[in-house]
Amino acid sequence: MAVTDHVDLNGFMEGVKKRNPHQPEFVQAVQEVAEDIFEFIQDKEEYHAQQILRRIAEPDRVVSFRVCWEDDNGNIRVQRGWRVQNNNAIGPYKGGIRFHPSVNESVLKFLAFEQTFKNALTGLPMGGGKGGANFNPKGKSVREIMRFCQSFMTELYRHIGADVDVPAGDIGVGAREIGFMFGQYKRITNHFTGVLTGKGLEWGGSLIRTEATGYGAVYFLENMLATKGEGVAGKTAVISGSGNVATHAAEKIVQLGGKVLTLSDSGGFIHDPDGIDQEKIDWVKTHKTHRRGRIEEYVEAFPRATFHPGKTPWGVPCDVALPCATQNELLGEDAKTLIANGCKAVSEGANMPTDLDGVHVFKHHKILYAPGKASNAGGVAVSGLEMSQNSERRSWKEEELQQMLKDIMKGIHDSCIRYGDQGDGYIDYVKGANIAGFKKVADAMLAFGVV
Ligand code: NDP
Repeated sequence: MAVTDHVDLNGFMEGVKKRNPHQPEFVQAVQEVAEDIFEFIQDKEEYHAQQILRRIAEPDRVVSFRVCWEDDNGNIRVQRGWRVQNNNAIGPYKGGIRFHPSVNESVLKFLAFEQTFKNALTGLPMGGGKGGANFNPKGKSVREIMRFCQSFMTELYRHIGADVDVPAGDIGVGAREIGFMFGQYKRITNHFTGVLTGKGLEWGGSLIRTEATGYGAVYFLENMLATKGEGVAGKTAVISGSGNVATHAAEKIVQLGGKVLTLSDSGGFIHDPDGIDQEKIDWVKTHKTHRRGRIEEYVEAFPRATFHPGKTPWGVPCDVALPCATQNELLGEDAKTLIANGCKAVSEGANMPTDLDGVHVFKHHKILYAPGKASNAGGVAVSGLEMSQNSERRSWKEEELQQMLKDIMKGIHDSCIRYGDQGDGYIDYVKGANIAGFKKVADAMLAFGVV
């Protein structure tokens, strides 16, 4: 019998850093998980012997490819595309596609790694993956975006499939881009299958998929507040981002009687002391999504608001905060400021928006803090329900889906409590989510042997 080599957390992380040079986001995501998992597996020899964490932290495969397209002026442009298939122990790879100039292998590997745990937490049979390209959709015409999506899919199609890998949208990829990619997939393969989620309702999409991530993050927040006998009604909320997740999180906060004070984009944040109500949220949705405008123009439409260029909104006093823009947008100092200003709960809509310092500050102060892999899982959960509907060739009603989304978010919250309850009234949601997600994937991997 082989002698098991038990490295400690530091030794493990040294190895991860050495094998993944120049990939800080990926190393950060692995570190955050490993901190909890090492403690959990201390007395569980089989996870050590089978090198389970080491294997989850090595993607099954990373496909990288050239994406050529022609802009409206006839110039040939060359971008790089990727699909990271991290782990399919519990189901087909599943995770979004991101189009943003900041996309690189490190970012996609971190997202695919996180997705593996998140998907496991939903209770649905989905593995973890993520993809994208360093393409900037801003300022591009619709025809340019269509040509890019078609070229991207011309390579991607051979790596995906309804039972293989089912991508969805993410930053820069909404229903329009999914439509262009699905059209190209169908043209190449002649298959009308549930190979992508986030589709239009007329061609296999699911109701409430668009709203699910933002709504789910607020349902998770409600579950957290309920542990303290509180609710969202009457609470002030600071939200970052102004895309799909941020606007729907804002919408649900307003529906539940809360007051949203801020939204942001990569240019800065707006602060509206009167509250961003449904009418204003609708304005932001139209302005950002359909007109591709900047959030700073909000103050022209609603002059009592102020715009703060180049800044994040964490200095605005609030009861609850929902970071819904991008990774590492809330740093250690921001976390301290939020707490000093009385913030009681943080529910992440984005993926890894809080850096490691910030996570440690929230944990140290024992506030209600939900990591994205738990609180933003509503989107992929409804994507999982879209896959089921596609397989069955049917569509569920909105009320049924709303209830399923609520139940799934409650189920994730229960799993976090199961493994994260510290026994002194504090629930470590990061630990709970990491262990619950890990255990499900790890146990499946044990069943498969060394593959
Ligand atoms: P969108 O493209 O709809 O919106 C992204 C928002 O974030 C925009 O307001 C954008 O501003 C802002 N943003 C992007 N990059 C930066 C940056 N570097 N600094 C400041 N702001 C930035 O994306 P989504 O709303 O879909 O995604 C937001 C987050 O939620 C991401 O982390 C994503 O991975 C995560 N997520 C999304 C899910 C979904 O269902 N859509 C599911 C689970 C997680 P600008 O317009 O200036 O670029």
